[in-house]
Amino acid sequence: MKTDYLIVGSGLSALVFGSLMAKSGKKVQVLEAHEHPGGFGHTFTMAKKYKFNAQLHYVWDCGEGQTVNQVLKKLNLDKEVTFNQYDPDGFDRMRMPGYSLDIPSESEELIQRLSNLFPQDADKLRKFVLEVQKTSEGLKKLTPPIIYQEIFKHFNQVSSAVMYLNSTLQDVFDKFNLPKEAQTLLALQWPDFLLPPDQLSFYAWVILFTRYQEGAFYPKQHFEDVINSLVKVIEENEGEVLLNQEVTNFTLRNKAVTAVTTIDRITHQSREFTGETIICNMDPQKAAHMIGAENFSRTVRKKLNYEYSPSNYMAYCVVKDLDLRDYGFGKWNTFHTGHRDLNEAFYQMYEKHDFSNPSFAITTPTLITEDQRDCPEGCQIIEFLTVANYDYFEKLKHSNEKKYRHKKEEILDYILDVVEKNYIPNFRKYLVFKITGSPTTNERYCWCPKGNSYGSNLTPRNMGIGRLNHKTSLNNFYFCNASSGYPGFAPTVWTGAKLYQTLSGDSISK
Ligand SMILES: Cc1cc2nc3c(=O)[nH]c(=O)nc-3n(C[C@H](O)[C@H](O)[C@H](O)COP(=O)(O)OP(=O)(O)OC[C@H]3O[C@@H](n4cnc5c(N)ncnc54)[C@H](O)[C@@H]3O)c2cc1C
Repeated sequence: MKTDYLIVGSGLSALVFGSLMAKSGKKVQVLEAHEHPGGFGHTFTMAKKYKFNAQLHYVWDCGEGQTVNQVLKKLNLDKEVTFNQYDPDGFDRMRMPGYSLDIPSESEELIQRLSNLFPQDADKLRKFVLEVQKTSEGLKKLTPPIIYQEIFKHFNQVSSAVMYLNSTLQDVFDKFNLPKEAQTLLALQWPDFLLPPDQLSFYAWVILFTRYQEGAFYPKQHFEDVINSLVKVIEENEGEVLLNQEVTNFTLRNKAVTAVTTIDRITHQSREFTGETIICNMDPQKAAHMIGAENFSRTVRKKLNYEYSPSNYMAYCVVKDLDLRDYGFGKWNTFHTGHRDLNEAFYQMYEKHDFSNPSFAITTPTLITEDQRDCPEGCQIIEFLTVANYDYFEKLKHSNEKKYRHKKEEILDYILDVVEKNYIPNFRKYLVFKITGSPTTNERYCWCPKGNSYGSNLTPRNMGIGRLNHKTSLNNFYFCNASSGYPGFAPTVWTGAKLYQTLSGDSISK
């Protein structure tokens, strides 16, 4: 049987697209370079007993009736793939010397908490939070399918959103003249974007901030189960997910992509795969380079000209005989900064490679679900995430492996010093396993060029109207990933679902 949809890459948007198509009766084949499916969302096992998800921490839009839930319903997976909610009274907990702020779901409560911390600036803070809400509502109205009556009806919100098209988060902080400490507390989830306020698109920040306010979630059986369930739908419907198949070339005939060549990463054998339609989940820029940029229309070439988002540093750790709940951890994330100024903190780490006063995220996946299959009894997982510069690490790795390993250790040491001083005394005593990932690890295991974290960088330039979408200008060939939609679990689920709707004509109500 001929393949209807040949999909390059098994990231979330690819698996969602593939499973929807397979379920609708189409023959689907997925080619994945890595040994695990899921891209940034893959899970790996260490020391035969600890399981870590590569990059996913918490996700939005998973409540009843929300987009992820609608897609799962369409796939008959909604009873199987379920989610726990983070604490709505404080899903993100921001900590800096002298200040702490738990971000609640309710905006009025947020205003109250900010006003208690900064009574002199209560009025400005209220206006800022209300502006964020208004912009969020306006952006929802501007999200396709656009209903023009809705735009006119909510003109005030829409015009407020449009006004910030080119703004960074810092521009809006400055406009409202917020105190520096309040800015830092509000923007302390910066690892979710891997950008500081003076580079981050205000739109990107508003969307993530308000969507997590509507509900932050974690899968009851971990992210591995979500990925496996999507793979299962493909396989149960006569489709295939072929691992260790690195696509090395695309065949272009008469402006149509007709086939791809792969190299099997285990046997080193080369193969050709054909499909009626080819879906590109790997980085669009890299794929375009393989195909030859000159074959794309000028408009698409322009859209493909995005810069990558910065890369990151991850430390995956396991503690034993220590209950993290006794030290202020639970169904929430903790974000820490030593610096009062996040732009400066980011600059020190990203440009100067100085992590002596780090800002980072702490996540504790084993506290969000009862399912203990990710680590043995008596153990808990704790992960640390911050930014790191690809060029610096790449040079280090290739010039001096020892120095490269030392730098990774040094960053973790600085982070653990902060943890022991501010959160868990003698933390190192309980640490039974640790492994760190750098930008080159990202590139190797997530196959992302330059170890980029979120595809195209989340600056105002890339978040504007010139953003890439599924259209490639070539026949039978479509983009389907974070850079041709938006990064994140819910946005990539939706990108896959949207492409399914476009190509099949079937609808997943939204
Ligand atoms: C540090 C970090 C933390 C994050 N945290 C969160 C979070 O908490 N919540 C959230 O919602 N989102 C988070 N994200 C974002 C989210 O993980 C991604 O946006 C999303 O998973 C991307 O999915 P995708 O469909 O674009 O595919 P990708 O995950 O980019 O997958 C692309 C796939 O293509 C494969 N591939 C590439 N080249 C080839 C080739 N030549 N041949 C064959 N296969 C190839 C890759 O191996 C990969 O499997 C995080 C990302 C990072 C980096």
